[in-house]
Amino acid sequence: MNIILLGAPASGKGTQSENIIKEFNFFHLSTGDIIRTNIDNQTEYGIKCKKYVQNGKLVPYSLLIDMINDFLRNNKKNKNIIWDGFPRTIEQAISLDEILKKNQQQVDIVFYLNVNEHVALDRIINRVVCPKCKSSYNLKHNIPKNPNFCDFDNHHLIKRSDDDVSKFKTRLVDYNTLTKKLLSYYKKKIIKIDSNVDNEIIWKIIRDAINDYN
Ligand code: ADP
Repeated sequence: MNIILLGAPASGKGTQSENIIKEFNFFHLSTGDIIRTNIDNQTEYGIKCKKYVQNGKLVPYSLLIDMINDFLRNNKKNKNIIWDGFPRTIEQAISLDEILKKNQQQVDIVFYLNVNEHVALDRIINRVVCPKCKSSYNLKHNIPKNPNFCDFDNHHLIKRSDDDVSKFKTRLVDYNTLTKKLLSYYKKKIIKIDSNVDNEIIWKIIRDAINDYN
């Protein structure tokens, strides 16, 4: 089964991915995480990607698709995938359809997490992440037990370099001009969810939809 999480920066894609993984047998494919891991490890891809990510710009398609294919080659075992942050353009959506078709698969459900701009900005400002396990915290609503350290692996929490007001605005422009076009591309598969509310409320809708689909 293939689930896409679609939504603006800080709409809750990462948080809902964590919920899905805890309850169902899914594999999380977050292009943001893949890119950041490549940057941290200073791979050839990472070196090329860095300037785009730091400026809040989309990484060029040719680089991205190679990183995704590498990632899939190394993680072949699980057939259920959550696609988080990919696709973000029509070009990427067409290429995902092709990747899946080769394996006799398809996109099954697209959850569209619809968040207001001011809510997303507030989340961005208060977000810290664990660079090791990728867990995300909110300094107002989802506070780590030990300030500055990850609850799961005790790693020092950091702010993402693209989580500031001006880069958020750049990211939103791409989201509004490119990614939103996917709403009509996927119109038959979309479940639209108000993502301004508590995690638990959103999660219940997602969990029920996955259970109903199976
Ligand atoms: P968010 O959804 O909060 O913007 P992500 O972690 O999904 O955060 O992405 C962080 C950055 O990684 C993006 O701003 C962009 O530079 C790059 N990126 C992630 N996914 C894609 C994609 N599908 N296409 C191009 N660039 C991407």
